[in-house]
Amino acid sequence: MLAAATSAAQAQRPQFQTTKVDGTDNVYIYRYVNHQSMFVVTPDGVIATDPIGLARPQAVTTYIDEIKKVTDKPIKYVVYSHHHYDHIAGGKPFKALGATFYAHENVKSRLALLKDPDTVIPDRTVGNNGGVINLGGTRLELHYAGRNHSDSSLVMRLPKDKIIFAVDFLPVGSFPGVAMVDSYPLEWEDSIKKVMGMDWARLIPGHPGPGDRLGTKEDAQKILALLQEASAEVKTAAREGKCWQPAEKDFTLPKYASWPGYESGLPFVARRYCALWGRGTE
Ligand SMILES: [Zn+2]
Repeated sequence: MLAAATSAAQAQRPQFQTTKVDGTDNVYIYRYVNHQSMFVVTPDGVIATDPIGLARPQAVTTYIDEIKKVTDKPIKYVVYSHHHYDHIAGGKPFKALGATFYAHENVKSRLALLKDPDTVIPDRTVGNNGGVINLGGTRLELHYAGRNHSDSSLVMRLPKDKIIFAVDFLPVGSFPGVAMVDSYPLEWEDSIKKVMGMDWARLIPGHPGPGDRLGTKEDAQKILALLQEASAEVKTAAREGKCWQPAEKDFTLPKYASWPGYESGLPFVARRYCALWGRGTE
């Protein structure tokens, strides 16, 4: 019943939505279906983030229209959260408006290699020491917290608001799934610890959390615990020779059974940890 009610509520959601983050002067979330992106409005222009336009150019033109409803200032920057196309494809309309694109340097090398026609190559990159964008009195810090869900994830931090925008490696209240495939599970744990050591109170995720709530350090702690428990569980199975099968089929973490994505995510979590502990691919 609960699941049916939840999916009915989701079906009734508008396709896109722009929300000002409570308690801030200028921080917004643009959601399109199940992806979302942060943008910040200043007197000197706008800092946008992920275009979220993979195979749906209307998500990007809508994003720009939504920004224009809030301000007539130019969109100066687009910052990519990490290299995955479902978050960063489709940025050409931002480029056409003159925006400068920022990303971690690993995003640029991946894009240069694969030449996806719909994904704009970053104009400027930051390395592992991160960087800062200052615009119209707003400071946006770009932190690299190591490899996690990807090798190119930036944590965007707004120090005044104690808000971070971090995509995919700190899901809010949902179970990891197919996107485990190209993750770095051991370093991911270290990365979460690093981010927990930063000064922030609220996390904007790249996919809406339950009821659209923002994340907290408690959510980050829970994801860390989940990864550690999954890792330990599969490690035992791997050393008993149970990877890939039957580990992938038998793996459960009953404590998380109520989390969205649990049933469908289990085999992907098991597969990634089998690659780690049963195969040796860290
Ligand atoms: Zn991703």
